Amino acid sequence: MVGIVIVSHSKQLALGVRELAAQMVQGQVPLAVAAGIDDPVNPLGTDAIQVYEAIASVLCDDGVLVLMDLGSALMSAEMALEFLSPEQREKVYLCAAPLVEGAVVAAVAAAAGKDIHQVIAEAQGALVSKATQLGFISRAGFNQSIDGKPAIPLSVSSQPILNEEIPTREIRLTVNNRLGLHARPAAQFVGTASRFKSQIRVQNLTRNTEAVRGDSINQVATLGVRQGHELLITATGVDAQEVLTALQALIINNFGEDNTIVELPPAVPQEVTPPQQGEIIGIAASPGIAIAPIVHYQSAAIAITEYHIENVEIEWQRLQSAMQIAKQEIQTLLSHASIQIGDADAAIFDAHLLFLADPVLLEAVHQGIFKQRLNAEAAWQAVVDEVANSYRRLEDAYLQERVDDVVDVGRRVLRILLGNSPSDLELTEPSIIIASDLTPSDTAKLDPTKVLGICMTSGSATSHTAIIARTLGIPAVLGVDTQVLNLESGTLLALDGETGRAWIAPKAATLARLETKQRVWRTAQEEARKKAHQPAITRDGRQIQVLANIGSLADVQIAVANGAEGVGLLRTEFLYLDRTSAPGEEEQLAVYQAIAQVLENRPLIIRTLDVGGDKPLPYLNTGVAEANPFLGVRGIRFCLANPQLLKTQLRAILRASAGNMIKVMWPMIVTLTEVRAAKAILTEVQRELREAGIPFDEKMEVGMMIETPAAVAIADQLAREVDFFSIGTNDLSQYVMAGDRTNPRVATLADAMHPAVLRMIQQTVQAAHGESIWVGLCGEVAADVFVAPILLGLGLDELSVNPQAIAPLKQAISHLTITEAQAIASVALQQDSATSVRELVYPIG
Ligand code: PEP
Ligand code: MG
Repeated sequence: MVGIVIVSHSKQLALGVRELAAQMVQGQVPLAVAAGIDDPVNPLGTDAIQVYEAIASVLCDDGVLVLMDLGSALMSAEMALEFLSPEQREKVYLCAAPLVEGAVVAAVAAAAGKDIHQVIAEAQGALVSKATQLGFISRAGFNQSIDGKPAIPLSVSSQPILNEEIPTREIRLTVNNRLGLHARPAAQFVGTASRFKSQIRVQNLTRNTEAVRGDSINQVATLGVRQGHELLITATGVDAQEVLTALQALIINNFGEDNTIVELPPAVPQEVTPPQQGEIIGIAASPGIAIAPIVHYQSAAIAITEYHIENVEIEWQRLQSAMQIAKQEIQTLLSHASIQIGDADAAIFDAHLLFLADPVLLEAVHQGIFKQRLNAEAAWQAVVDEVANSYRRLEDAYLQERVDDVVDVGRRVLRILLGNSPSDLELTEPSIIIASDLTPSDTAKLDPTKVLGICMTSGSATSHTAIIARTLGIPAVLGVDTQVLNLESGTLLALDGETGRAWIAPKAATLARLETKQRVWRTAQEEARKKAHQPAITRDGRQIQVLANIGSLADVQIAVANGAEGVGLLRTEFLYLDRTSAPGEEEQLAVYQAIAQVLENRPLIIRTLDVGGDKPLPYLNTGVAEANPFLGVRGIRFCLANPQLLKTQLRAILRASAGNMIKVMWPMIVTLTEVRAAKAILTEVQRELREAGIPFDEKMEVGMMIETPAAVAIADQLAREVDFFSIGTNDLSQYVMAGDRTNPRVATLADAMHPAVLRMIQQTVQAAHGESIWVGLCGEVAADVFVAPILLGLGLDELSVNPQAIAPLKQAISHLTITEAQAIASVALQQDSATSVRELVYPIG
């Protein structure tokens, strides 16, 4: 008898369909289900392995009919076929029939002993009786209009619907932040505007633009708003006044940006020499010299075909599924990037998320599919091209650069729609990458130990690709002639990211000159490094430990080279990301030992797994979807709920502690019970190791992060349980200020400079010192040199920052005295806002 497989995004739906079909045939027909995915947060989805298993469970010589709901269900089913042998595959038929009617009719036909071809024919005709009854079908077939009305109603509007009776309010504001409404502020603007019910229109009066929708990232960004431009913001709706006040606060606070630190592209000394043969001139985008063979990087070419579609709903669903997957990919990238390049630069990818949620863009694609009946790929690409062109048309060069992000997100969705896998760059030896367009997300994934330089035909010094390359310390020359794309892989290239020049197969003389420059460069760096290697001592003789926050083995090398006195925070999440199961004890041990080896007996604080919140791991299933993941099972809560996972990690940490200066640290502690429970598991693991005769450091220090208001409130009690505290202001700020750090609508609230957070830091330090334990701070704020006096004045003993921030921070500390710092801190604690705290310490101008 023919077997039937039901593939659906929803387990409940699939089980319901199976129940219905089974009832018709009294359970005689083999019916298997492959539905939903193993992700408590987003359980809707399909999985090729599940489909394969379902097919295998009903496979027989009579054949198997596979019915799918929509979108990725088709892709998963097609992929599942690839897991079958050719003989098995011949027996399996993917069927375009509607899921519910198709399954019922197919089950009846199969129960009646019909062969697979008859079952398919019956299933495919399953809608006929329904359509005939409703009058949708005539001899001409489906999709007939009835009474001149289209069969599928269209309700697409690119304009907001305004109600005449609801008053409209408006406000004129001048934008003063240094770069105007570039990606991040635009994201905050849109995030804030979308939080309210009112419809927002915004117009750039200085550039005399039209009014655009305030909830569209693309429309707001393409207003071309720069420093000094005047905006007219109009709000229509019940909360018009509130939204205008919120937007005003955002603009007055310069979107939380520091106007004084200028993110300058590297200085470009004037080279007067004309280009020589084999010399390429481009834009100096990230300083440094690289000499290495080249490797071409090409994001997989995406060719799309435009065609006319019949079933618009299915096409729309395909697009929705692809966008959902894209969103998940970007969220993973964001987690990775915030570990590797810090929250501030990683925020670039917040704008990518907003792009996917842009209502204007979605409405335009909807029109393409529903009105023009274009396939999802063609409709999506047409709209992305249009948005990209509107960025290109901007007069402002900086805002023009944001086109890279549009193209990046556009490509991601297309790739997923077409079922292609992402292109990965696996380098076997250190190389220089040649590319026509390395997207910001490609760049964020590069390993600086393997990628010595970037030479690209597009891009500029202010592109996000360049910004990320600078953060990663990879020399880059961008905007070079396309001839480089024809170079043979392995060709030697020399590249000077400071002058923006590169040399193909450089002559001996050029090579010698560049090697000399590289030596000089390295010596200069060495000098700076030497300074960075000196301890950070204030003018009145107080030493502050300056350590690094790292997320990988590659980071630790950079950290040590930059003068880190150890690692104050190893985010172990990196070991668990981008894989399908948790790393085992041996794998973790090898990584912790390798990091400790690079540190040569400097301290290494290993934070136990801190997942959940913004770092979901699909394979570590908590079993329940969470409405507020930041308030859910994250950090230590997750580990205590999964003690085996924690035990494996602790065994690896303890084993690595033998002969190394390793300390362990618990994340997200809220109660004494949690610390005691975590310590009890540690004690148990220590006992097991002792009994097995496995060496470890019996005196390994145990610390905890202070990241929640509850932990601050009971810091005196907690201090009696541990050897040290490390304050995580990224989380502490969001929990104190009740502002989700990943939600651009409220992220500016989560500001560690707010006196509410500063008072929490003060309270924690006092509690720690009262119990004679040391206290550090490892949130992003510690990397801000202007904030150092406040942190020192509050009494912190240790600061842990991203590797690039170590040298400037040490220098800033060496210019201070503790007495001055204490005076500044006590004034800061009395301020009424984060802005006035900043005004105290930031230089004017
Ligand atoms: C923090 O919360 O400040 C912190 C350092 O931890 P993470 O950013 O990894 O949550
Ligand atoms: Mg944290």
